[in-house]
Formats: sequence, C-alpha cells, structure tokens
Amino acid sequence: MEPWHTGKSSLNKNSPVERSSSGWGPLRVPLSTTCIMSIKAYKYRLSASTGTTQKLQWVLDRCRELYNAALTERRDAYDMHVKRHPGYYDEETRKRLTRELTIDYYGQKCDLVEVKALRSEYQEIASHVLQDVILRLKRAFDGFFRRVQQGEQPGYPRIQGKARYDSFCYPDGAGWKLEAKERPAAKKGSVRVNLHLSKIGTVKLHLHRNMEGTIKTLTIKREGDYWYAVFTCEIDKPEPLPVSYEDVGIDLGVTHFAALSNGEFLDHPRYVRKAEKQLAQAQQALSRKKCGSHRRKRAGKRVGQIHRKIARQRRDFHHKAARKLVNRYQVIVLEELQTQNLTKRPKPKQDENGRYLPNRAAAKAGLNKSILDAGWYTFTRIVSAKAAWAGRTIIFVDPSSTSQTCPNCGAIRKKTLDERLHSCECGCELDRDTAAARVILALGHKQLLVGTRPTRETA
Ligand SMILES: [Zn+2]
Repeated sequence: MEPWHTGKSSLNKNSPVERSSSGWGPLRVPLSTTCIMSIKAYKYRLSASTGTTQKLQWVLDRCRELYNAALTERRDAYDMHVKRHPGYYDEETRKRLTRELTIDYYGQKCDLVEVKALRSEYQEIASHVLQDVILRLKRAFDGFFRRVQQGEQPGYPRIQGKARYDSFCYPDGAGWKLEAKERPAAKKGSVRVNLHLSKIGTVKLHLHRNMEGTIKTLTIKREGDYWYAVFTCEIDKPEPLPVSYEDVGIDLGVTHFAALSNGEFLDHPRYVRKAEKQLAQAQQALSRKKCGSHRRKRAGKRVGQIHRKIARQRRDFHHKAARKLVNRYQVIVLEELQTQNLTKRPKPKQDENGRYLPNRAAAKAGLNKSILDAGWYTFTRIVSAKAAWAGRTIIFVDPSSTSQTCPNCGAIRKKTLDERLHSCECGCELDRDTAAARVILALGHKQLLVGTRPTRETA
C-alpha cells in the first residue's frame, strides 16, 4: 500500500530531472519559463495640493459625464431606431437595423472631435484619456452581450454615480511624465518623485518600491480621500526559483486559514471578525443618519474606510502566506473551490407532517461568513500567480469528499462539521484538516502521474 500519510511520494526522490524541466504549469498548461512577457501592476500613493486634487476630481467628473452620455447615446439609438421600428419583432430586420442604425465604439470615438468642439472644457483633458473612457464603455457592452449570448442574465451597463466611477486611465505614454521609476541606490524607504500630468499639474508620488520593466499604462484612481497612481509594466519573466523537493497539499478551512499536509497550520486572520464591531458600529451610525444629510455622508465615508482597511489587511496576509508557500514547495496542491456552492443556504428540512426541522442554518451562516471572510478564492489566485512566476506547479483537485477520506487507508470516514479529529479503524489519528490536506496531496500526485484529472471512479 502506498504510504500516503508520510507526505513524501516516490516521485520526490526519483524524478528530479522531470521536475526541473519546464513542463508543469497550473492545471498542466505548459509553462515556459523563458521569453514570456507578463504584466505587473504597481500602485503608489499620491500627494497633491488642494488645487491639483480638485483638478483631478474635475477630470474624473468630466470622464464620468462623458461615459454616462455615451452610454445614454448608445441606449437611445437602439431604443429610437430599432426598438420602435415596425420590423423589430422580425429577427432578421432587427439585426440589420442594429447593424445600420446604432452607434458603436468607433463611431463614438470619432465623435469625440465634435464633443470637444461643443464643450470646450474637454479640450483641457488629454485625448487618449477620453478615448479610454469610450473604450471602457465598449468593454462594458462587450461583456453584457457576451453574457447574454451565453444565456446568462446580466445587468445592462450602468449609469455611473460619483461613488462608483473612481479612475481614469492614460493608455500609453502620452500626457504624463514620471521623473524616476527607481529609487537612488543609497536611499532606503520611500522616495518622493514628481509625476507631471499635462493640463492637471504636478503631483508627488511615494515611490516605495522600484518599478521593473517598461511602463505601458497609467491609471489615476481615487479611493476615499486618497489618490493613487497605478502603473502597468511589461516585464520579462524572471528566472524560476531553484527546484525544491518538498510538495504540499493544502486544505483551506475555517478553524485554521490553511492546514498543510505536513501537519503545519497557517493561522486564520479573522480581520473581519475583529473589525466587525467597529464596522457594525459604523454601519449603525450610518443607518441612523437622515438621508442626504452631511452627517450621513460622513458616516458613509467611515464605513468605507473600515472596509478598505480590512481589504488591505487581507491582501497583505494573502500575499505573505502565498510567498512562503511558493518559496518552500515545488508542487502545491489545492482544492478547486466553488465558493458559490459553499456559501449556499442549507436546504430546509421537513418531517413527515411537513413541519420544518432545524437545519443548522444559523451555524451555516456563521460558516459562510468565515468562508467569505477568508477570501479563499483570491488566495488561490495569488498562489497560482506567484507559482507561475517562480516556476512552481499548482494542481487543483476535485474537493469532493476530501475531508471524509482516510489518508492512510483510503476508507470513507464520515464526519460531521463539529468533529475536529480524524480517527480511522486502521489506526490513523490526525487533525481533521491535516488529514484532508494529505488526501489532497495524494490526489495531486496521482493527477501528476496520470496526466489527467482522475474521476471519482479512477481515483
Ligand atoms: Zn484508515
């Protein structure tokens, strides 16, 4: 019998050659480690004078106005020329009319010249920024149409409110200039660098880390009261990390954020729970305020601040944990999560008289909260990205019954959610989550050897 529980497979010792080759990528998509350009985003805080900040907000408002106007134009063109046409119910005619009489991205892009002639203030804004606004609308519509065709029920692109529309983008090098993208070698910590935005002014950028590669786009973004510059850079893939001979299976859980197959745990940062009290207070305060009042606005700001703080803390934790895993392990096996299913409401239970029995909905609700709190999905995404950069392998396995299987003998050992210990007749006694992590690792190894995902029959 294979010693699953040792956490070491024969693969570890015998096949270093296969392992060092460039063969294995996430989900077995071949991953070449050289000559691939990839995109990395860098985000920096800005500090601007009051006047410049107002100017930034003004540009943002004009962009939003343009977006909303362009959206209305598209919608109206369809409503007036196609929907009200007598041939609307004939699919052929409808398609022809749509082609001929509605306005698309290219039309609207050309119309920018007229917009500038009619509204002189738009001459104050870099033209590529305005073109990018139109492009955003195109993307919104493309997404909408794609989802309609896939039979989903998407929402129609929205008119953007002031709180929602929070960034504008320079899609290339025109209209701005950054003084330096690297800190002087002698300097430690953050350096302030000038960023010139044409027709807006100069803002100071807190360069807390060096930028690599070639800058492609610049996005100016507002979050609450703060402004940020986000640069996307095109970078050559770095050299992969030296090969490691340790593999790991990871069970993402509620008690611990993650249980590793070697018995270690990554602790669960319950930032949301900790900050929950604060957040609850802030939200209560918000709900007591009269609609449209200044105080309500202020209270809303506070709620936003707390949410953003939680998001930052969570992202920080995810990146640090993922970095540790990727540095240490060569093959990382994760469960394929479907958070949408995990967080569903439990089915109502009825007895034979039709009376409703307790279905532990409250307990599940608490569990749901933890699942969402932990942001597992984001975490798996971050691990995958880091692994791809480092030449590591990520495998996703079928999560069904991983927590119910014995890692030692493979027998099914049913457990309720409260049972924290896995103990099997074969003498295997482990923490429930560690046991699951070992099963996951074994499944991952199997998948590596087989080359395809085993179904439940072959597993
Ligand atoms: Zn067993």
